[in-house]
Amino acid sequence: MMDEDRRYIADLMLLRLARWLRMAGHDVSNPPEGADDSDLIEVALAEDRTLLTRDRVLARRCKKSGADCILIRSSDLEEQLGELADAGLSLELDPVRCTLCNGPLEEVAGSDIGDPVRRPEEGSLLWRCERCGKLYWRGSHWRGIRERLKRTGD
Ligand SMILES: [Zn+2]
Repeated sequence: MMDEDRRYIADLMLLRLARWLRMAGHDVSNPPEGADDSDLIEVALAEDRTLLTRDRVLARRCKKSGADCILIRSSDLEEQLGELADAGLSLELDPVRCTLCNGPLEEVAGSDIGDPVRRPEEGSLLWRCERCGKLYWRGSHWRGIRERLKRTGD
């Protein structure tokens, strides 16, 4: 399977990592509300997702049940991204996923946005989450994200 087509589910300890992976365009589900280990494995199997976890016991159970799993060793975000880069994940900034809810982003024209306070600079590219409505646009923090991803991806 191409890594670009691979889908993931993060466990509760890795929600921050999941957000960063979404910025790089990866499809990463959050764990369902109140999900226990068995639920996570069930979702991974049912939706053909690779489980990302720092829990060795869960990783072992996951593999035993036939689901894909990547065991993350570090508790440090940049090191975690580095581990995934080593595992072959692309960490190029690619705005196709909402970092909060994993919904797909659609490109919108600035004039489609009703609230003038939130309108970005004229002519900037703008995306809206189809699921939760959060807006994204290129700006200074965007460049910071790109640089941080680049650093860990090298
Ligand atoms: Zn969203």
